[in-house]
Amino acid sequence: MVDRLAQTIVAPITAVGGSVAMVRVSGPMAYSVAKAVFANWPDKVEPRRAVYGTFVHGDDGLALPFASGASYTGDETVEFSVHGSAASVAGLVEACCQAGARPAGPGEFTMRAFLSGRMDLTQAEGVRTLVEAQSDAALRQGRLLREGRLSAMVAAVREAVLGALATVEASTDFSEEVGDLDRDVLDRRLADIVGETDRLLGTAAASRVAHVGVTVAVVGKPNAGKSSLFNALLNADRAIVTDVPGTTRDALHETIQAGGMLMRLVDTAGLRETSDTVESVGVGRSRDAASEADLVLYVYDASAGFDEVDEAEFEVISRPKLAVANKADLPHRDGPGTKVSAVTRSGLDELLSRVVGSVGVAVGEVPFVLPRHVPLLQRAREALVDVRQTLGQPVPDDLAAVGLRAAARALGEITGETATPDVVERIFHDFCIGK
Ligand code: GDP
Repeated sequence: MVDRLAQTIVAPITAVGGSVAMVRVSGPMAYSVAKAVFANWPDKVEPRRAVYGTFVHGDDGLALPFASGASYTGDETVEFSVHGSAASVAGLVEACCQAGARPAGPGEFTMRAFLSGRMDLTQAEGVRTLVEAQSDAALRQGRLLREGRLSAMVAAVREAVLGALATVEASTDFSEEVGDLDRDVLDRRLADIVGETDRLLGTAAASRVAHVGVTVAVVGKPNAGKSSLFNALLNADRAIVTDVPGTTRDALHETIQAGGMLMRLVDTAGLRETSDTVESVGVGRSRDAASEADLVLYVYDASAGFDEVDEAEFEVISRPKLAVANKADLPHRDGPGTKVSAVTRSGLDELLSRVVGSVGVAVGEVPFVLPRHVPLLQRAREALVDVRQTLGQPVPDDLAAVGLRAAARALGEITGETATPDVVERIFHDFCIGK
């Protein structure tokens, strides 16, 4: 069988469409591939020093060498910068393949970095987060992952589990020397460890907000100014604004960034009982949108006042909600909620900061778990809870060891220490080519 890891791989590492593109060659033959495709490859390679020159495929640009052990993947690597046309990139990749490289698979550069011990799985996931980040919050989380902050927290929990396991094993194997297992002491240690897994699991909701963002539905009676407010928040003319009540029939959505996080705004048709079938479909959809949103903005016309219908509609919203008194530029009496005007844009900043305040995540240097980590933490937690129950029964000590090993294995799968090759393969396969 061919040792795929011993092969030299090549792929563009920049997206199509820029004026400059980068192509990375990595593996034991990287320098010799470079020598074959780059006319000005130096006889004496100086790592991390870019050289300008011409390529055999007909372009000119830079070659930047990295020595084995001091590159992204850990292997000998050369990064070429050429002009960004598809022709130039394809020509260079082809030339590298003729010189002995093969095209890299999805995530293969980062997988090699993992396999050579340059990063663990959570750090690799951090790279992916940094590459895909669409908000400041995601960028910050990517950096924390990349720095190994989550990995250190998970490793500490795993160490504690392994410590408990060592205690159990010592008392079963060498009970004469170390004495009987003190089950109360062990139980207290395990309770602390369960607390730590709970703390990590507790970051999952904030993690979703940081990585994916939140959905905010704009609802209210027809003509309250929902579409106008939606547009004002978007700063663009996406939704149809009209004077005829009930003509915004579809749920429209757009994504903005506010308070450093992504916010998916959903403009809904008027929440109004109606006999018009088309419109009632819209009303149904807007109720759906409202019931699935992370936050509902209930907009009413301040110049008409917050009436009984508004009160009833506001009451039935089952999600976190904020009242918004729109048309505050017109004469109005005091009512609930934030006063805004979609027309003059007054109050919008305050509204956004209230939205961020009610659904946002605390800005801090705390790393959050990713969706992949949640079931593994749950598995570790369940195993630990089982061990505590077992220790309460008159059963042999070594039964506890089984559960502790299972917990350690699940935690190790988060960082990759105990991940099987197919798990690793699957994680990196979700990456794109060139990562
Ligand atoms: P929707 O049915 O709730 O989506 O309401 P629209 O956004 O279509 O607005 C209904 C009417 O109210 C339109 O004529 C808007 O120009 C007007 N309108 C919306 N917001 C404001 C506002 O803040 N001030 C004033 N004076 N008029 C507004």
